[in-house]
Amino acid sequence: MDIKKQIYKKIKKYNTIVIARHIGPDPDAIASQIALRDAIKLTFPSKEVLAVGASVAKFKYFGTLDKEDYTNIKDALLIVLDVPSLDRVDKMEGLSYKEIIKIDHHPSNDVGFSLSWIEESSSSTCQMIAELLFSTNLKMNQKVANNLFLGIVSDSDRFLLSYTTPKTFKIISKLIEEYHIDFNSLYTNLYERPINEIRFHGYLAEHLTLTKHGLAYVKITPEILKEYNVDNGTPSNMINDFNYIKEVLVWIFITYDEKSELYKINIRSRGPIINTIAQNYRGGGHKFASGARCKTLEEVDALLKDLENACQEYKNAQ
Ligand code: AMP
Repeated sequence: MDIKKQIYKKIKKYNTIVIARHIGPDPDAIASQIALRDAIKLTFPSKEVLAVGASVAKFKYFGTLDKEDYTNIKDALLIVLDVPSLDRVDKMEGLSYKEIIKIDHHPSNDVGFSLSWIEESSSSTCQMIAELLFSTNLKMNQKVANNLFLGIVSDSDRFLLSYTTPKTFKIISKLIEEYHIDFNSLYTNLYERPINEIRFHGYLAEHLTLTKHGLAYVKITPEILKEYNVDNGTPSNMINDFNYIKEVLVWIFITYDEKSELYKINIRSRGPIINTIAQNYRGGGHKFASGARCKTLEEVDALLKDLENACQEYKNAQ
């Protein structure tokens, strides 16, 4: 049976469904989670459906997450979205579930899921949720469609990234046509930024160090974040803006996080494969969009060296 139909059957069977996603959520993670919760509630009003995980103030326009004490929940169906491994799921501790379904577009070696739908070629998890809703009896309304639209636009970086396919455009077109999406107001939610963030963007551009083989990096200290009044999630939102710089093949932001005492790393590429390198530094992700965590500056330097070598090898192979 088609995987989407199998997922629908499980959703239909359970009275309690918990929907989770990765820590440090981006618009695709939050939007897919809230859209799926709302679609299941629309279709099955008597089911208890909870979207769990830490709230993020800047994403509150997607809808609110459920604050209930879900540690009392028993025999639930757990659906994890946009996350390749369980150790990166936000709010798993103490949650009792009977079965677990994964829906994701990151590469992974799957183990321990009752059902797993992985589509590495999908632009986003929101694209997969839209497909799920369009191909089963799950209902959609304009709010669900808006969230799915925003998740796809954001994760495909406005259709710039290579995972954008004819299927992406077909789904976007269907969402717009059937649910009359008003993109202007939605884009304001997604892209409006305060002036201090624009100035911080200027700081990043100004301080990007470029190496011989096309690696660009910038190290961001807590003092700089304070000076520009931005939080340590802000660099993640800006990394994609540094695509298509002529001299740059791989670019990386290194942000020291005082709370975890780790260097949080965003890596992007327009050629060399980077996720296999990120995996050696407590990270992973997509072939051309990855993240990592380093404990020391020495480790950061080793990562930079590995990325520089990957750039050189890539250039030599061209
Ligand atoms: P980011 O740079 O945080 O936007 O992350 C880019 C991609 O890498 C996303 O698909 C993340 O899910 C993934 N990623 C980021 N950090 C990690 C990590 N520490 N471990 C595994 N995957 C990660």
